[in-house]
Amino acid sequence: MSSEILEEIKAAIVKKLPERIQLANIEFEGSEVVIYTKNPEIMTDNEGLIRKLAKDLRKRIIIRSDKSVLLDPEKTITKIHEIVPKEAEITNIGFDDVTSEVRIEAKKPGIVIGKFGVTSREIVRNTGWAPKILRTPPIPSEIIEKIRHILKHSSKERKQSLQAFGLRVHQGSKHDSDWIRLTSMGGFREVGRSCMLLQTPNSRVLLDCGVNVAGHDDKSSFPYLNVPEFSLNELDAVVVSHAHLDHCGFVPYLYHYGYEGPVFCTTPTRDLMTLLQLDHIDIAHREDNPLPFNVKHVEKTVKRAVTLDYGEVTNIAPDIKLTLHNAGHILGSAMSHLHVGDGQHNIVYTGDFKYERSRLLEPATSKFPRLETLVMESTYGGHEDVQPSRNSAEKELMKIIYKTLKQKGKVLIPVFAVGRAQELMIVLEEYMSHGIIEEVPIHIDGMIWEATAIHTARPEYLSKDLRDQIFHAGRNPFISDAFHKVINHNERKDIVEGEPSIILSTSGMLTGGNSVEYFKALSGDEKSTLIFVGYQSEGSLGRRIQKGWTEIPMLEEGKTKVYHVKMNIETIKGFSGHSNRRQLMDYVKRLSVKPGKIITCHGDPYKTADLASSIHRSLKIETKTPLNLECTRLQ
Ligand SMILES: [Zn+2]
Repeated sequence: MSSEILEEIKAAIVKKLPERIQLANIEFEGSEVVIYTKNPEIMTDNEGLIRKLAKDLRKRIIIRSDKSVLLDPEKTITKIHEIVPKEAEITNIGFDDVTSEVRIEAKKPGIVIGKFGVTSREIVRNTGWAPKILRTPPIPSEIIEKIRHILKHSSKERKQSLQAFGLRVHQGSKHDSDWIRLTSMGGFREVGRSCMLLQTPNSRVLLDCGVNVAGHDDKSSFPYLNVPEFSLNELDAVVVSHAHLDHCGFVPYLYHYGYEGPVFCTTPTRDLMTLLQLDHIDIAHREDNPLPFNVKHVEKTVKRAVTLDYGEVTNIAPDIKLTLHNAGHILGSAMSHLHVGDGQHNIVYTGDFKYERSRLLEPATSKFPRLETLVMESTYGGHEDVQPSRNSAEKELMKIIYKTLKQKGKVLIPVFAVGRAQELMIVLEEYMSHGIIEEVPIHIDGMIWEATAIHTARPEYLSKDLRDQIFHAGRNPFISDAFHKVINHNERKDIVEGEPSIILSTSGMLTGGNSVEYFKALSGDEKSTLIFVGYQSEGSLGRRIQKGWTEIPMLEEGKTKVYHVKMNIETIKGFSGHSNRRQLMDYVKRLSVKPGKIITCHGDPYKTADLASSIHRSLKIETKTPLNLECTRLQ
């Protein structure tokens, strides 16, 4: 691939910059243009100039210092401590020679940045190093530490791959972008293994690449990557909507088989996705059913991840621009707005979304500048999928907990590690701190603690209410004393034999994990209650108990042991991270632009079709419910 385009850009920049600024080098870093200069201070003091340059070139521009003007690291550390107020609580400072960046980890990153970026500019002016400011989470997170470690040691590799990608997207369109097609590769008329390929004459982008964790063989678990139009060598980019495995669980496989390009997602998605992918490998290993990729490929996914904030526009292929928007489903979940060609066609892929404010997150965005095709999920798209409001679900939950604690029982809530668990933690903390339910320990078991730690590292993605509490009132509900992290088996024994308490544990459908152990220990206790707050799939232990089975046979050390269920069993609807039927319909009605076509996916066949036909009937919009392997022409 030629770098002629880079030379052209360089010439344009030289022409526009004042002579006193010495240009050392210009590089692509993904879709951004990085200028290395010997006068970083002049550049940081002339933001208007940079903004104008970016506007003229229609590219995002980053300024970094040439190595020759960087201050010695030791002196830089001293200088940073002089410049940054102590209240920022810096915990670590590290250097990246490849990018001339200094990584500053602090408990209060906002103070390191300073008002309008004044403090971080001061650092550049005095040291030459460009500060990369990271939050030290109030709850330490092993995954975030691991990711930071991987990134620190792969800086050169990352830079090379971003350069290659930059050349690819900046070479522009070779052909007229006169057609667009979408191939369904998984997650159509089903829930699980979401995957689709967006193609134009110039570009190929994969939207999600998930697994079906309930699948019984490779054919039903993984997406159809063998469709004739899909080729790893020709793939420009992968976009991941959110961290649930049915949307990202198969991404490491792409890297195993030679994909070298980027995967675009939000920062929380990258972190949570790594946690869930590693756990998936672990579980598969334990069940002696290994996945067709390993930890190395999860690490490669981390190295190739390009994280975007909501609202940030980026070129991801020669004729496609991507913008991610809040989807309200789990932390970092995103709707992808894809702008093809020069304003020709705009597509929004919703991923999973919640069109209602929750404790944790703001509702999904319905404002888009332009929109021709909407690809939307339909998990609860059936007309009978009416669920109680979040508010009444909370009240019902509190009533059950209140009653159980009063009769000196324990409350067991099996829950998914990411999303519902944190939502419940916020609700429980709130009701407990207001004295509505008795103050008892809330035991947090399994992966929930780590997922919560990741939530505390990314507070800017939480709901406005939570952000206000954390940033302005200095009160972070996640670090409340009410929560207790369960570390080992002995503790679990003490918990089930001890005083009344509330237990949140994985797995959410009692398909393994510690929730099953708690269930076994508490099943015979008439005073205790098991509360289901999430979906229980057919065939899971959770579903059987929910249906009212009172005798549960379980295999233990080669023998069958029967558990007699005497504990109370309750199900509370309304805590779902998905939009219910009414919210799905309202979402389409309230979109800022009426789309010309709607494609429904991610739902049982009947629900996907029911939602599509209702939209067509009542809103007069063309709809389609493709099968897996079908290809739809969008333009
Ligand atoms: Zn999801």
